Amino acid sequence: MKSGKRIDVISEYQKRIAEKESLNLVVIGHVDAGKSTLMGHLLYLQGEVTEKTIRKHERDAQKIGKASFAFAWVLDETGEERARGITMDVGVTKFETEHRRFTLLDAPGHRDFIPNMISGTAQADVAILVVDATTGEFESGFDANGQTKEHALLARSLGVQQLVIAVNKLDVVNWSEARFLEIVQKLEQFLVKDASFKKSNLVFVPCSGFTGENLVRRSTPGNICNGSAVSDTSVPESVAAVLSTFSWYKGPTLIESIDKLDTPMRPIEKPFRMSVTDVFKSAGGVSVAGRLEAGHIQVGEAVMVMPGSEMAVVKSMEVNHEATRWAAAGDSVLLILSGIDILKVSNGSVLCTREAPIPVTTHFAAQIVVFDVKIPITVGFPVIVHRQSHNEPGVVSKLVATIDKVTGEIVKKSPRHLGKNTTAMVEIKLSGRAIPLEAYKDSKELGRVMLRKGGDTIAAGIVNKILSFGS
Ligand code: GDP
Repeated sequence: MKSGKRIDVISEYQKRIAEKESLNLVVIGHVDAGKSTLMGHLLYLQGEVTEKTIRKHERDAQKIGKASFAFAWVLDETGEERARGITMDVGVTKFETEHRRFTLLDAPGHRDFIPNMISGTAQADVAILVVDATTGEFESGFDANGQTKEHALLARSLGVQQLVIAVNKLDVVNWSEARFLEIVQKLEQFLVKDASFKKSNLVFVPCSGFTGENLVRRSTPGNICNGSAVSDTSVPESVAAVLSTFSWYKGPTLIESIDKLDTPMRPIEKPFRMSVTDVFKSAGGVSVAGRLEAGHIQVGEAVMVMPGSEMAVVKSMEVNHEATRWAAAGDSVLLILSGIDILKVSNGSVLCTREAPIPVTTHFAAQIVVFDVKIPITVGFPVIVHRQSHNEPGVVSKLVATIDKVTGEIVKKSPRHLGKNTTAMVEIKLSGRAIPLEAYKDSKELGRVMLRKGGDTIAAGIVNKILSFGS
């Protein structure tokens, strides 16, 4: 392997973002809210999927009497095509808008898939939350057992600050403005008050992922006809009727809304960190997929795998399925490593450098926000600790204090238990393996944890201090 010339990554990176900034986008929401259909249709309208592919899906879908699935299959197929496995848990697709380059992380909505959803969302900068406007459906997604609230809380806890809410399936409620406003009001209250999103970081877009309304183009009679590739009886028959009932909406389309999202500051000058979400064997060596959290890397450089402190060399790499010689913070990357045994690197490992290793620990202090818990959290409470896509069992080993959410002042030292909506400082001990973790002040990306129990997310928090160090 030729090592080639060393690249000045920082200046290359600046050239790249001057051209177009990149954002990682995750699509979240209750099962059947229409996430796959909406994103498939959006990709089709953006020209990422050929007419031929859509026609094929349409024929296949019609064969099983489900014409409406044609768009949803766009994402499934791209998943299958990426046979090398980068999509094993979360499918990845890219697309561009006028000012932004997006990597789309497809998060499944089913309850059992929450750990996968966490993995997708942990890699995301921004999210589209899809809600179903159909009477009764929005409500069931929004109640205690629905995933609308849980996904929104998880996204916020994982660092997503900007949310575009697609109020979807508006075709089913005859493009009703009253229904749209009712949903906006309920969701906005929850997102601002309970999930701590800034009101100015929320955008609500009424749309239909099925007819394509308001995804890319504004409603004109021609657009409504052309935008819909699927000829199905449930596509509104009278275009004129749609227009007159939907003329109340003057805001941005979905694509215009995401094109305006801010790009977060990337910690490109900090020490190199890459969180691993997938590992598999390939012809050239060990393939490692994940997100570059901080710093930068180039072909030929040495990396250290934590835990374990094993060294490897970057033989080649891909960003968004294209071969490249360098990658920087914020990129979803596939590295081919040489000089390492595949057993030494796994989902949850973090790649760093020997000069600036990431701490590895089984004991840390965190500030957590307790969600909707059935049983209050007490000392010894068993939890599954999630850091990005990785999880390990552990216990809440000490309740240090409860604190005021707004002022940050201590309310009570050594509380006996923590109930719903409490903010508290706690200590957490892992029962098994040590994990790579950083204090939040050092890494916003690697300094967040989520606590789950019995399939529910019970708390999310940031790491204040690492209390034990392994290797
Ligand atoms: P997901 O589970 O959130 O990915 O939802 P899907 O995209 O699989 O959609 C679930 C069901 O809702 C499918 O039968 C879709 O055809 C249907 N659907 C999705 N979007 C719309 C929409 O905008 N309007 C209507 N009428 N049906 C939709």
